[in-house]
Amino acid sequence: MMGKHYDVVVIGSGPAGYVAAIRASQLGLTTACVEKWVDEDNQTKFGGTCLNVGCIPSKALLDSSYKFHEAQEGFDIHGIKVGKPKIDVAKMMDRKNSVVSQLTGGIKSLFGANKVDGLSGIGTVLGDNQIRITAQDGTVFNVSAKNIIIASGSVPITIAPTPVDNEVVVDSTGALDFDEVPKRLGVIGSGVIGLELGSVWARLGSQVVVLEALDEFLPMADKQIAKEALKIYKKQGLDIQLGSRVTGSNVSGGANRTVIVEFSNSQGDHQITFDKVIVAVGRRPYLDDLLDDGLGIELDDRGRIKVNAHCETNLPSIYAVGDVTRGPMLAHKGSEEGVMVAERIAGKMTQVNYDLVPSVIYTHPEVAWVGKNEEELKADGIEFNVGVFPFAASGRALAANDAEGMVKLLADSNTDRILGCHIVGASAADLLQQIVIAMEFSASAEDIGLTMFSHPALSEAVHEAALAANGHAIHIGNRKRR
Ligand code: FAD
Ligand code: AMP
Repeated sequence: MMGKHYDVVVIGSGPAGYVAAIRASQLGLTTACVEKWVDEDNQTKFGGTCLNVGCIPSKALLDSSYKFHEAQEGFDIHGIKVGKPKIDVAKMMDRKNSVVSQLTGGIKSLFGANKVDGLSGIGTVLGDNQIRITAQDGTVFNVSAKNIIIASGSVPITIAPTPVDNEVVVDSTGALDFDEVPKRLGVIGSGVIGLELGSVWARLGSQVVVLEALDEFLPMADKQIAKEALKIYKKQGLDIQLGSRVTGSNVSGGANRTVIVEFSNSQGDHQITFDKVIVAVGRRPYLDDLLDDGLGIELDDRGRIKVNAHCETNLPSIYAVGDVTRGPMLAHKGSEEGVMVAERIAGKMTQVNYDLVPSVIYTHPEVAWVGKNEEELKADGIEFNVGVFPFAASGRALAANDAEGMVKLLADSNTDRILGCHIVGASAADLLQQIVIAMEFSASAEDIGLTMFSHPALSEAVHEAALAANGHAIHIGNRKRR
């Protein structure tokens, strides 16, 4: 059956796809967005990984578990006595689910308001500008599009030593849906997802062991910041074992099944028994049923759709954005690519600045960074000044009893241009954003130093780090005085 013709058809409704679709429609292009995910009632679930099983539900559980942790350990110092708090896991999950429904429902409304046709089914790119859509009930129809934007996202990687059974051994999706707090929890992988989900359950009472194959903690982060974060996580009770490669597992028992995880490190081979294990070893691009045989779209060596800086594939009028293509697997990176592609299709010259993709770990304190770190600048032979300001010297952080961590700002020692900012501390993601904006405008450390910041605010730590980069922070001693 021949279907409708569109200017743009987007495949996938995650943060890359739905944003691309809305922007395309805003620009007057007739647009459809195809999504294959449906709920138990066969209703299309828009929003992709991010809204359904990623950013949003993980943050909902991080927020709930942090409140629990504060009630348990953070209130007493303020003179607040509440007794021993109890966690109702089912209620916590209900709240998380309702936040997810509110947001995924919101996308449906946004599609309506922006005249995007939301199409339900698996989209397969056939060539000749045709897309086949296979609906849940088996109905098949084609639509055609002048431009096709692939935004099919990613799925969790599984590893042979720990097959996911979704009961005892789960992936990130399963870890967002435990029905009770596991007593002994293993997390495989100390990447962002492992740390966030490990923190959720540790705060609620699990004994958490994180097994990480690499010897280095957070190799993508600035070393000083990674070291500080590791110290804080360990103090919080996360038993992070670096250099520990998981090699096998054995699930046993009846109703209360447990899993023995085998791993090896420099001291030899070991085993630990857990009640649950979260496999958080990364994600891979998702291409199942997406490309018709013989379409000829080029992939890279990691199975991602190969694109240029404008997200164009090797085939004319076919683009790829988000997790399915190169770059960090982050929602905001995908969204910006979605906007860029929609705008370029509409004739604008939009670009994405890949040098300024902020990264965040939403633990408490948060870890956030943008731009180059100290090690990268040294490797590039760039001379730079470092400004570090600890939250222990921030009045606002002390008033909140939340003064762990620091802001570290790096600026070119010749031009003073800000080259990177690295934060571990409360609200690091939001604090970082002011430097992301400043860097977009090629600001110098002095520009930030000359800006007036409200007092008392956590952002003063960013101000002081910028002053420190030029040797004249007010509330700490400076490494160099200028
Ligand atoms: P996805 O969100 O994966 O969406 C792809 C969509 O395409 C899916 O809905 C899928 O069903 C659909 N699809 C695939 N193939 C087809 C097809 N053939 N036909 C029709 N539909 C198809 N990122 C952040 O920036 N911040 C965070 O805090 C954060 N937290 C995370 C926490 C967890 C636990 C996880 C797992 C991820 C997290 N991420 C976070 C990563 C973030 O979720 C992804 O980077 C983001 O969702 C990628 O967006 P996307 O649109 O490229 O793909
Ligand atoms: P990320 O890709 O940032 O989500 O992080 C995944 C982490 O899992 C990486 O740091 C990997 O080193 C780690 N990892 C992968 N395989 C194993 C394994 N078999 N045992 C322990 N850690 C692993």
